[in-house]
Amino acid sequence: KILIVTRTFGKYSQEPVEFLRKEGFEIIRSDTIDPDILKEVDALIVGTHPVTAEMVENSSLKIIAKHGVGVDNIDLEAATKKGIPVTITAGANSLSVAELTIAFIFALSRGLVWAHNKLFLERRWEGTVGQEVSGKTLGVVGFGSIGREVVKKAVCLGMNVLVYDPYVSKDSVRLLEATPVDDLEQLLKESDFVSLHVPLNESTKNMIGERELSLMKKSAFLINTSRGELVDEEALVKALKEGRIAGAALDVFSEEPPDANSPLFECPNLITTAHIGAHTKEAIFRMNMMAAQSIVDFFKG
Ligand code: NAD
Repeated sequence: KILIVTRTFGKYSQEPVEFLRKEGFEIIRSDTIDPDILKEVDALIVGTHPVTAEMVENSSLKIIAKHGVGVDNIDLEAATKKGIPVTITAGANSLSVAELTIAFIFALSRGLVWAHNKLFLERRWEGTVGQEVSGKTLGVVGFGSIGREVVKKAVCLGMNVLVYDPYVSKDSVRLLEATPVDDLEQLLKESDFVSLHVPLNESTKNMIGERELSLMKKSAFLINTSRGELVDEEALVKALKEGRIAGAALDVFSEEPPDANSPLFECPNLITTAHIGAHTKEAIFRMNMMAAQSIVDFFKG
Protein backbone atom coordinates (compact mmCIF):
# COMPACT_ATOMS: atom_id res chain seq x y z
CA LYS A 1 0.00 0.00 0.00
CA ILE A 2 1.28 3.44 -0.91
CA LEU A 3 0.09 6.72 0.55
CA ILE A 4 0.50 9.54 -1.98
CA VAL A 5 0.54 13.04 -0.50
CA THR A 6 1.20 15.27 -3.47
CA ARG A 7 -1.56 16.77 -5.56
CA THR A 8 0.35 16.59 -8.82
CA PHE A 9 0.80 12.81 -8.87
CA GLY A 10 -0.93 11.58 -12.01
CA LYS A 11 -2.19 15.06 -12.81
CA TYR A 12 -1.05 15.28 -16.42
CA SER A 13 -0.76 11.59 -17.21
CA GLN A 14 -2.20 8.46 -15.65
CA GLU A 15 0.92 6.53 -16.63
CA PRO A 16 2.62 6.68 -13.18
CA VAL A 17 -0.61 5.59 -11.44
CA GLU A 18 -1.14 2.74 -13.90
CA PHE A 19 2.50 1.73 -13.54
CA LEU A 20 2.16 1.35 -9.75
CA ARG A 21 -1.15 -0.52 -10.03
CA LYS A 22 0.29 -2.89 -12.63
CA GLU A 23 3.16 -3.63 -10.25
CA GLY A 24 0.57 -4.68 -7.65
CA PHE A 25 0.43 -1.61 -5.41
CA GLU A 26 -2.70 -0.26 -3.82
CA ILE A 27 -2.82 3.55 -3.86
CA ILE A 28 -4.27 5.74 -1.13
CA ARG A 29 -4.38 9.47 -1.85
CA SER A 30 -4.63 12.31 0.62
CA ASP A 31 -3.78 16.02 0.95
CA THR A 32 -2.49 15.50 4.49
CA ILE A 33 -0.70 12.78 6.42
CA ASP A 34 -3.00 10.97 8.83
CA PRO A 35 -0.77 9.15 11.38
CA ASP A 36 -3.32 6.30 11.51
CA ILE A 37 -3.04 5.71 7.79
CA LEU A 38 0.75 5.69 8.14
CA LYS A 39 0.33 2.58 10.32
CA GLU A 40 -1.32 0.76 7.39
CA VAL A 41 0.89 1.66 4.46
CA ASP A 42 4.27 0.37 3.29
CA ALA A 43 5.39 3.38 1.33
CA LEU A 44 4.89 7.13 1.19
CA ILE A 45 5.25 9.46 -1.78
CA VAL A 46 5.40 12.98 -0.40
CA GLY A 47 5.98 16.48 -1.73
CA THR A 48 6.47 19.33 0.75
CA HIS A 49 4.14 18.10 3.55
CA PRO A 50 6.12 17.73 6.82
CA VAL A 51 7.05 14.16 7.79
CA THR A 52 7.93 14.40 11.48
CA ALA A 53 9.95 12.01 13.66
CA GLU A 54 6.76 11.01 15.47
CA MET A 55 5.02 10.12 12.20
CA VAL A 56 8.00 8.04 11.07
CA GLU A 57 8.46 6.26 14.43
CA ASN A 58 4.82 5.21 14.66
CA SER A 59 4.46 4.12 11.05
CA SER A 60 4.71 0.85 9.18
CA LEU A 61 6.63 2.63 6.40
CA LYS A 62 9.43 0.77 4.66
CA ILE A 63 10.35 3.55 2.21
CA ILE A 64 9.70 7.26 1.76
CA ALA A 65 9.93 8.65 -1.77
CA LYS A 66 10.33 12.43 -1.87
CA HIS A 67 8.47 13.93 -4.84
CA GLY A 68 11.26 16.45 -5.49
CA VAL A 69 14.78 16.92 -4.15
CA GLY A 70 14.62 19.17 -1.06
CA VAL A 71 14.28 16.74 1.88
CA ASP A 72 14.16 19.44 4.58
CA ASN A 73 10.49 18.56 5.29
CA ILE A 74 11.37 14.95 6.20
CA ASP A 75 12.95 13.94 9.52
CA LEU A 76 15.87 12.04 8.00
CA GLU A 77 17.34 11.13 11.38
CA ALA A 78 14.17 9.35 12.44
CA ALA A 79 13.96 7.56 9.09
CA THR A 80 17.60 6.49 9.29
CA LYS A 81 17.15 5.25 12.87
CA LYS A 82 14.31 3.03 11.67
CA GLY A 83 16.25 1.89 8.61
CA ILE A 84 13.79 3.54 6.22
CA PRO A 85 15.41 4.71 2.99
CA VAL A 86 14.41 8.13 1.67
CA THR A 87 14.69 8.54 -2.10
CA ILE A 88 14.63 11.76 -4.13
CA THR A 89 13.78 12.49 -7.74
CA ALA A 90 17.25 13.83 -8.49
CA GLY A 91 17.45 15.92 -11.62
CA ALA A 92 13.77 15.47 -12.55
CA ASN A 93 12.94 19.14 -12.06
CA SER A 94 16.33 20.75 -12.64
CA LEU A 95 15.54 22.05 -16.13
CA SER A 96 12.26 23.59 -14.98
CA VAL A 97 13.78 25.37 -11.97
CA ALA A 98 16.70 26.56 -14.12
CA GLU A 99 14.32 27.90 -16.76
CA LEU A 100 12.35 29.80 -14.09
CA THR A 101 15.63 31.27 -12.84
CA ILE A 102 16.48 32.51 -16.33
CA ALA A 103 12.94 33.90 -16.67
CA PHE A 104 13.53 35.82 -13.41
CA ILE A 105 16.82 37.18 -14.74
CA PHE A 106 15.04 38.61 -17.80
CA ALA A 107 12.03 39.80 -15.81
CA LEU A 108 14.30 41.70 -13.39
CA SER A 109 16.63 43.14 -16.00
CA ARG A 110 13.80 44.46 -18.20
CA GLY A 111 11.27 45.35 -15.46
CA LEU A 112 8.79 43.06 -17.22
CA VAL A 113 6.29 42.73 -14.38
CA TRP A 114 6.31 46.47 -13.72
CA ALA A 115 5.92 47.21 -17.45
CA HIS A 116 3.05 44.75 -17.81
CA ASN A 117 1.23 46.18 -14.79
CA LYS A 118 1.59 49.75 -16.10
CA LEU A 119 -0.01 49.03 -19.46
CA PHE A 120 -2.31 46.14 -18.67
CA LEU A 121 -3.65 47.18 -15.28
CA GLU A 122 -3.25 50.97 -15.41
CA ARG A 123 -3.50 51.49 -19.24
CA ARG A 124 -0.50 53.76 -19.01
CA TRP A 125 1.95 53.91 -21.90
CA GLU A 126 5.18 54.24 -19.94
CA GLY A 127 8.46 52.77 -21.01
CA THR A 128 11.09 51.26 -18.80
CA VAL A 129 14.79 51.40 -19.47
CA GLY A 130 16.23 48.02 -18.71
CA GLN A 131 19.56 46.45 -19.33
CA GLU A 132 20.93 43.59 -21.42
CA VAL A 133 21.97 40.45 -19.60
CA SER A 134 24.71 39.70 -22.10
CA GLY A 135 28.07 40.68 -20.62
CA LYS A 136 26.67 40.86 -17.07
CA THR A 137 27.97 38.69 -14.26
CA LEU A 138 25.81 35.98 -12.73
CA GLY A 139 26.85 34.49 -9.40
CA VAL A 140 25.57 30.93 -8.93
CA VAL A 141 25.63 29.63 -5.36
CA GLY A 142 25.47 25.83 -5.43
CA PHE A 143 26.71 23.87 -8.45
CA GLY A 144 24.39 20.85 -8.24
CA SER A 145 21.78 19.63 -10.64
CA ILE A 146 19.92 22.94 -10.92
CA GLY A 147 22.94 25.23 -10.56
CA ARG A 148 24.64 23.49 -13.49
CA GLU A 149 21.60 23.93 -15.76
CA VAL A 150 21.46 27.62 -14.84
CA VAL A 151 25.17 27.98 -15.63
CA LYS A 152 24.79 26.33 -19.06
CA LYS A 153 21.91 28.60 -20.03
CA ALA A 154 23.53 31.77 -18.69
CA VAL A 155 26.77 31.07 -20.58
CA CYS A 156 24.70 30.70 -23.79
CA LEU A 157 23.22 34.14 -23.07
CA GLY A 158 26.69 35.64 -23.03
CA MET A 159 26.85 36.12 -19.26
CA ASN A 160 30.04 35.79 -17.23
CA VAL A 161 29.30 33.19 -14.61
CA LEU A 162 30.89 32.87 -11.18
CA VAL A 163 30.25 29.74 -9.13
CA TYR A 164 30.59 29.24 -5.38
CA ASP A 165 30.31 25.62 -4.21
CA PRO A 166 33.05 24.35 -1.89
CA TYR A 167 31.98 20.74 -2.43
CA VAL A 168 32.66 20.42 -6.17
CA SER A 169 35.89 20.43 -8.16
CA LYS A 170 36.97 23.66 -9.80
CA ASP A 171 37.57 21.77 -13.02
CA SER A 172 33.91 20.70 -13.21
CA VAL A 173 32.97 24.41 -13.03
CA ARG A 174 35.53 25.42 -15.68
CA LEU A 175 34.26 22.64 -17.93
CA LEU A 176 30.99 24.58 -18.25
CA GLU A 177 32.90 27.79 -19.05
CA ALA A 178 32.21 29.33 -15.64
CA THR A 179 34.69 30.67 -13.08
CA PRO A 180 34.94 29.05 -9.64
CA VAL A 181 35.38 31.40 -6.67
CA ASP A 182 36.75 30.49 -3.24
CA ASP A 183 34.33 32.43 -1.14
CA LEU A 184 30.78 33.67 -1.17
CA GLU A 185 31.94 37.19 -0.40
CA GLN A 186 33.78 37.55 -3.71
CA LEU A 187 30.76 36.24 -5.62
CA LEU A 188 28.43 38.70 -3.86
CA LYS A 189 30.73 41.65 -4.52
CA GLU A 190 31.26 40.95 -8.22
CA SER A 191 27.85 39.73 -9.43
CA ASP A 192 25.07 41.66 -11.15
CA PHE A 193 22.69 38.77 -10.43
CA VAL A 194 23.04 36.32 -7.53
CA SER A 195 21.08 33.07 -7.74
CA LEU A 196 20.79 30.50 -4.92
CA HIS A 197 20.81 26.75 -5.67
CA VAL A 198 21.85 25.12 -2.41
CA PRO A 199 19.82 22.82 -0.15
CA LEU A 200 18.45 24.11 3.15
CA ASN A 201 20.38 22.83 6.16
CA GLU A 202 21.95 24.21 9.31
CA SER A 203 24.92 25.64 7.40
CA THR A 204 22.88 27.32 4.65
CA LYS A 205 20.04 28.73 6.77
CA ASN A 206 20.08 32.56 6.50
CA MET A 207 23.21 32.39 4.34
CA ILE A 208 22.05 35.66 2.80
CA GLY A 209 21.54 38.15 5.63
CA GLU A 210 22.15 41.85 6.21
CA ARG A 211 25.94 41.54 5.87
CA GLU A 212 25.77 39.54 2.63
CA LEU A 213 23.20 41.90 1.11
CA SER A 214 25.41 44.85 1.99
CA LEU A 215 28.26 43.26 0.02
CA MET A 216 26.19 43.12 -3.16
CA LYS A 217 26.31 45.91 -5.76
CA LYS A 218 23.57 48.50 -5.42
CA SER A 219 22.58 47.63 -8.99
CA ALA A 220 22.45 43.87 -8.35
CA PHE A 221 19.49 41.49 -8.15
CA LEU A 222 18.95 38.47 -5.87
CA ILE A 223 17.08 35.37 -7.06
CA ASN A 224 15.95 32.58 -4.75
CA THR A 225 14.29 29.50 -6.23
CA SER A 226 15.69 27.13 -3.56
CA ARG A 227 14.27 27.51 -0.06
CA GLY A 228 12.94 30.61 1.71
CA GLU A 229 15.01 30.14 4.87
CA LEU A 230 18.24 30.62 2.92
CA VAL A 231 17.48 34.34 2.99
CA ASP A 232 16.84 36.51 6.03
CA GLU A 233 13.59 38.02 4.74
CA GLU A 234 13.59 40.91 7.18
CA ALA A 235 17.04 41.95 5.99
CA LEU A 236 15.93 41.53 2.37
CA VAL A 237 12.91 43.79 2.85
CA LYS A 238 15.17 46.42 4.40
CA ALA A 239 17.70 46.19 1.57
CA LEU A 240 14.95 46.40 -1.09
CA LYS A 241 13.16 49.33 0.56
CA GLU A 242 16.37 51.26 1.10
CA GLY A 243 17.54 50.55 -2.45
CA ARG A 244 20.67 48.80 -1.20
CA ILE A 245 20.12 46.25 -3.96
CA ALA A 246 18.15 46.86 -7.17
CA GLY A 247 15.60 44.08 -6.79
CA ALA A 248 14.87 40.45 -6.09
CA ALA A 249 12.80 37.52 -7.29
CA LEU A 250 11.51 34.87 -4.89
CA ASP A 251 9.80 31.58 -5.69
CA VAL A 252 10.17 30.35 -2.12
CA PHE A 253 9.48 31.82 1.32
CA SER A 254 10.32 31.06 4.94
CA GLU A 255 6.60 30.56 5.50
CA GLU A 256 4.52 29.15 2.62
CA PRO A 257 2.20 30.70 1.74
CA PRO A 258 3.61 33.93 3.16
CA ASP A 259 1.34 36.03 5.36
CA ALA A 260 -0.82 38.34 3.22
CA ASN A 261 0.46 41.26 5.32
CA SER A 262 4.12 40.30 4.93
CA PRO A 263 6.30 43.39 4.41
CA LEU A 264 7.70 41.57 1.37
CA PHE A 265 4.56 42.62 -0.49
CA GLU A 266 5.37 46.27 0.17
CA CYS A 267 8.51 46.09 -1.97
CA PRO A 268 7.86 47.30 -5.53
CA ASN A 269 11.22 45.95 -6.68
CA LEU A 270 10.33 42.37 -5.72
CA ILE A 271 8.85 39.70 -8.02
CA THR A 272 7.14 36.73 -6.38
CA THR A 273 5.80 33.35 -7.49
CA ALA A 274 4.17 30.63 -5.38
CA HIS A 275 6.86 27.90 -5.30
CA ILE A 276 6.27 27.04 -8.97
CA GLY A 277 9.87 26.16 -9.82
CA ALA A 278 9.12 22.51 -10.50
CA HIS A 279 5.61 23.08 -11.81
CA THR A 280 5.85 22.20 -15.44
CA LYS A 281 4.08 19.27 -17.04
CA GLU A 282 7.41 17.73 -17.98
CA ALA A 283 9.00 17.98 -14.53
CA ILE A 284 5.87 16.72 -12.79
CA PHE A 285 5.72 13.70 -15.08
CA ARG A 286 9.41 12.93 -14.50
CA MET A 287 9.03 13.32 -10.72
CA ASN A 288 5.93 11.05 -10.74
CA MET A 289 7.73 8.33 -12.68
CA MET A 290 10.98 8.51 -10.68
CA ALA A 291 9.20 8.38 -7.32
CA ALA A 292 7.06 5.42 -8.48
CA GLN A 293 10.09 3.64 -9.94
CA SER A 294 12.10 4.01 -6.72
CA ILE A 295 9.33 2.31 -4.75
CA VAL A 296 9.03 -0.51 -7.27
CA ASP A 297 12.83 -0.96 -7.31
CA PHE A 298 12.94 -1.07 -3.50
CA PHE A 299 10.28 -3.76 -3.11
CA LYS A 300 11.65 -5.78 -6.02
CA GLY A 301 15.06 -5.71 -4.35
P1 NAD B 1 21.80 19.29 -5.60
O1 NAD B 1 21.92 18.49 -4.35
O2 NAD B 1 21.99 18.63 -6.91
O3 NAD B 1 22.82 20.52 -5.53
C1 NAD B 1 23.05 21.30 -4.40
C2 NAD B 1 24.46 21.86 -4.48
O4 NAD B 1 24.64 22.78 -3.41
C3 NAD B 1 25.56 20.78 -4.34
O5 NAD B 1 26.45 20.85 -5.44
C4 NAD B 1 26.26 21.14 -3.03
O6 NAD B 1 27.65 20.88 -3.07
C5 NAD B 1 26.00 22.65 -2.95
N1 NAD B 1 26.10 23.18 -1.60
C6 NAD B 1 25.69 22.64 -0.42
N2 NAD B 1 25.96 23.48 0.60
C7 NAD B 1 26.56 24.57 0.05
C8 NAD B 1 27.05 25.78 0.60
N3 NAD B 1 26.99 26.03 1.91
N4 NAD B 1 27.57 26.69 -0.24
C9 NAD B 1 27.64 26.47 -1.58
N5 NAD B 1 27.20 25.32 -2.16
C10 NAD B 1 26.65 24.40 -1.35
O7 NAD B 1 20.36 19.98 -5.53
P2 NAD B 1 19.53 20.62 -6.73
O8 NAD B 1 18.73 19.56 -7.41
O9 NAD B 1 20.41 21.48 -7.57
O10 NAD B 1 18.49 21.52 -5.90
C11 NAD B 1 18.93 22.60 -5.10
C12 NAD B 1 17.80 23.05 -4.19
O11 NAD B 1 16.77 23.64 -4.97
C13 NAD B 1 17.08 21.90 -3.46
O12 NAD B 1 17.74 21.53 -2.27
C14 NAD B 1 15.72 22.48 -3.20
O13 NAD B 1 15.72 23.10 -1.92
C15 NAD B 1 15.56 23.55 -4.27
N6 NAD B 1 14.47 23.24 -5.21
C16 NAD B 1 13.46 24.13 -5.37
C17 NAD B 1 12.44 23.86 -6.28
C18 NAD B 1 11.32 24.82 -6.51
O14 NAD B 1 10.23 24.41 -6.84
N7 NAD B 1 11.53 26.12 -6.40
C19 NAD B 1 12.44 22.66 -7.00
C20 NAD B 1 13.50 21.79 -6.84
C21 NAD B 1 14.52 22.09 -5.93
